[in-house]
Amino acid sequence: GFDDERGDYRVILGDHIAYRYEVVDFLGKGSFGQVLRCIDYETGKLVALKLIRNKKRFHIQALVETSILQKIREWDPMDEACMLQYSNHFYFRDHLCVATELLGMNLYELIKSNGFKGLPIVIIKSITKQLLLCLTLLKQKNVIHCDLKPENILLCHPFKSQVKVIDFGSSCFEGESVYTYIQSRFYRSPEVILGMGYGTPIDMWSLGCILAEMYTGFPIFPGENEHEQLACIMEIFGPPDRSMLDKCSRRKVFFDSFGKPRPFISSKGVSRRPFVKSLHQVLECKDVSFLSFIADCLKWDPEERMTPFEAIQHDFITGNQDRRPNTAPARQKIVKSPPTYLDPPPSRPLPNL
Ligand code: ADP
Ligand code: MG
Repeated sequence: GFDDERGDYRVILGDHIAYRYEVVDFLGKGSFGQVLRCIDYETGKLVALKLIRNKKRFHIQALVETSILQKIREWDPMDEACMLQYSNHFYFRDHLCVATELLGMNLYELIKSNGFKGLPIVIIKSITKQLLLCLTLLKQKNVIHCDLKPENILLCHPFKSQVKVIDFGSSCFEGESVYTYIQSRFYRSPEVILGMGYGTPIDMWSLGCILAEMYTGFPIFPGENEHEQLACIMEIFGPPDRSMLDKCSRRKVFFDSFGKPRPFISSKGVSRRPFVKSLHQVLECKDVSFLSFIADCLKWDPEERMTPFEAIQHDFITGNQDRRPNTAPARQKIVKSPPTYLDPPPSRPLPNL
């Protein structure tokens, strides 16, 4: 193997890496390098091997990811918090390699495989409970994931709704955040866009966006740039309070001196005005507890936003809404008994996928 411009290791199927791993398939390729499905001959098991480009920036980012993955193993020794399990790291011909457990397709691929029709609410609820186990532990340890999105949530098995959170390459400790340009745009929190300082609440914002997308099949705030991203949020929730704007270093980019949003038109000629849509209209959903859960994740002010601990006590999670009349649209009534919190994941195939 030798390096091209990007500093990628040239992998060929059947390659042997470090006398231990045999490459059997490609799982993903990104700015960081490549993820490979490998046989680990020391354990006889299949693993995912992340081969990092030998460029300084990606090497440093991968070292951060490796150290957080190692800490997660200490914090969650029984593997109960739905996060990727680290197994090993080493250098191979100047490339950092990180071996982890092998997982299945990501949530974006799942949504796509379902024809972007959205997932049944019982599946969404089961996935939400698992994501909250992860976010509760991360918050307890003051870790911000910083890149929660469907591509970074993976199914554990092809036909079960068990998931794990991956990609801790942008993660950091609260109070030690160094980057201002974080999170993928559609899932980016207002405090990051507006330059306000941020903490673990940014992951709860992303969670709210992901839930809406799992339900409808499409990103709820599909901004083509940060201007439109904010405009999409304001279409539903209106502009943020003056008191919040006063804390934002980038407010002048988006608002005039009266706190009024600067007019803006997207490249497709779409102008977006505040307060023209409601959350239940956009989602076409009447499930009160689901809507309120999402709305509580999508509070402008990070201090008002629901925390993971509050979230696990929300009606949507505890199931208290089941006592109310069922107003959910017909397509959600596919699976009869929703799994309860901490139940083992259902072993039957996903309905309608
Ligand atoms: P990046 O930092 O480029 O986003 P990721 O760690 O998210 O890197 O990996 C990129 C993609 O590779 C993921 O979206 C997923 O589809 C695939 N992938 C990563 N880790 C695994 C794994 N452990 N098992 C299966 N697929 C994986
Ligand atoms: Mg990723």
